[in-house]
Amino acid sequence: MHWMLDTAIATTAAPVADHAAGNSLVTIAYLVAGVLFILSLAGLSKQETASRGTWYGILGMALALVAAILGPDVTLYGWLAIAIIPAALIGGALAIRVQMTEMPQLVALLHSFVGAAAVLVGFASFLDPHPGMSMAEAIVHEIEVYIGVCVGAITLTGSIIAGLKLHGKISGKPLMLPARHLLNLVAAIVTVLLGVWFVDAAVDVAADAIVIDTLGVTLLIAATVLTGLLGAHMVMAIGGADMPVVVSMLNSYSGWAAAAAGFMLGNDLLIITGALVGSSGAILSLIMCRGMNRSLVSVILGGFGAAEGTKAAPGEGPQGEVIEINAEDTVDYMRAAKSVVIVPGYGMAVAQAQHALADLTKKLRADGVVVRFAIHPVAGRLPGHMNVLLAEAGIPYDIVLEMDEINNDLPDTDVVLVIGANDIVNPGAENDPSSPIAGMPVLQVWKSKMVVVMKRGMATGYAGVENPLFFNDNTRMLFGDAKKSVDEMLAAAPG
Ligand code: NDP
Repeated sequence: MHWMLDTAIATTAAPVADHAAGNSLVTIAYLVAGVLFILSLAGLSKQETASRGTWYGILGMALALVAAILGPDVTLYGWLAIAIIPAALIGGALAIRVQMTEMPQLVALLHSFVGAAAVLVGFASFLDPHPGMSMAEAIVHEIEVYIGVCVGAITLTGSIIAGLKLHGKISGKPLMLPARHLLNLVAAIVTVLLGVWFVDAAVDVAADAIVIDTLGVTLLIAATVLTGLLGAHMVMAIGGADMPVVVSMLNSYSGWAAAAAGFMLGNDLLIITGALVGSSGAILSLIMCRGMNRSLVSVILGGFGAAEGTKAAPGEGPQGEVIEINAEDTVDYMRAAKSVVIVPGYGMAVAQAQHALADLTKKLRADGVVVRFAIHPVAGRLPGHMNVLLAEAGIPYDIVLEMDEINNDLPDTDVVLVIGANDIVNPGAENDPSSPIAGMPVLQVWKSKMVVVMKRGMATGYAGVENPLFFNDNTRMLFGDAKKSVDEMLAAAPG
C-alpha cells in the first residue's frame, strides 16, 4: 500500500535543495500534501475507502512534487528534467507492464530506490560544505548523515535480496550461517564505533570547512559497505512464511531512510512523509507478526520455513492417497450446499481466476447459497493481495471476511473451496509441533464438512512445507489451473 509514497519519496529527494521553508506558499502546499497523505493512509486501511485513499495519495504527491519543483530552492531545471523525465517514463512503463503477482518484487525494488536515494543524499550532504555551522549544528548534521546513509544502505541491499527471493532468482530458503547472530552483532557494534569516529573526524574538519574530508568519506564508504552487507545478510536469513513481515519491515525502513534524507535536506515534507511510511510500515509488520503468531525478534533472527515450490522426497512428509474430484461434481456439491466458504491464495493470483470466481459466486448466490470469502493475513505475496484482487473482480466487501471473523463458522460450513492456497490452510501449523510453520494461525478448513482444494499438482506452497490437508477423508483434490477449473465449473452450472 505504501509503495506509491515510497516511489515518490525517492523522486522528491532529488529536486529538493537546502531549505524549503523559505517560501510560505511552498510551506502551505507541503502542509496540505501532508494532510492528504494522512487521509490516504486512513483510506487505505479499509477496503471500502481504499480507492479514495489512493487518490488522496496521488493528489498529495502531485502537489508535493509541483511545490518542490517550483519552490525557491530549485533552480537547475535542466538537470531536474534529465533526472525526472526518463525516471517517470521507466516507472510508468514498469507499472503498466507489471503483473499483479509480480507486485511484491516491484515494491521491494522501489524500497531499494528509497534506500539508494538516502545513501546518495547522505554523501552529497556530507560533501557539500556547510560554512558557518556551529559545533553543535555540525555534530547533529554529521549524525544525520551517518544514520541516513546506514539506514539507506540496509534498506537498499535488504530490499534487493527480498526482491530476488520473491522473484525466485535466489532461493527463498533461509541462509543459516553458523555464527550469523554473532556476525550481525559484530557488524552492528562496528557500525556504531565507525559512526563515533566519523562524527569526530567530520566535525574537526567542519571547523575548517574547506578541506575535503578524505577520512570522513572513507569512514562513510566503510559504513555503507558494512551496513549494506548487514542488510543483505539479515534478509538472506529470513525465508519461507516470514517473507511478508520482511516486505513490510523494509517498507518501514524505507520510510525512516526517507525521513533521514528529509533531515539532511532540511525538507519538512520528506520528514513527515518518511515518518508516516516508517511508522505505518512498523505497525503493519506488527500486525503481520500477530497474524502469524510470531514475535518481530524471532522473524528478524530468521530461519522459518524452507524453500518455495518444493516437492517432498519420496518417503518424506505426509503420505497417503488423495481423492480427486472434477469441476462438474464440485459445482454440484456447491449448488447443493447451504453455505460455501472460498479461500483464495497465491495460485488464484497466478491463474488470474478472480473474475471467473466472481461470476461463479454470483451464480451460487442466485441459487440461494450463502457464499463468503475467507482471507488469511499472509495469503498471496503482498499484504492485502487477495483483498485487492477480489475488489478488482467486484466481489462485494461484506462477504469478504478476515481469518478471525470466519474460523469459528467453518465447522458449520458445507463446502470450503480452497483456490490456489496452501500454507494458509495447512493443519500441520496447529497439529504438528515439529512443522516448520508450527504456531502460525491458519484457516481451519479441515473442520468443515467438505474441502475441495484446487491446485495444479502436489507442490508445496511458499514455505516449502507438505500439507496433510490433501490426504484427509473429507478433502477432494481438483487438479488443474485454477482459472481453467473455475471456467469448467461455470460451464457446468448454466443459468
Ligand atoms: P502458497 O504459496 O502457500 O500456495 C499457493 C499454491 O497455489 C501452491 O501450492 C500452488 O500449487 C498453487 N498454484 C500456483 N499456481 C496455480 C494455478 N495457476 N492454479 C492453481 N493453483 C496454483 O500460497 P498461500 O496464499 O496459501 O500462502 C502464502 C504464502 O506466501 C505464505 O507462506 C506466506 O507467508 C508467503 N508470503 C506472503 C506474502 C504476503 O505479504 N502475503 C509475502 C511473501 C511471502 P501447485 O503448484 O501444485 O499448483
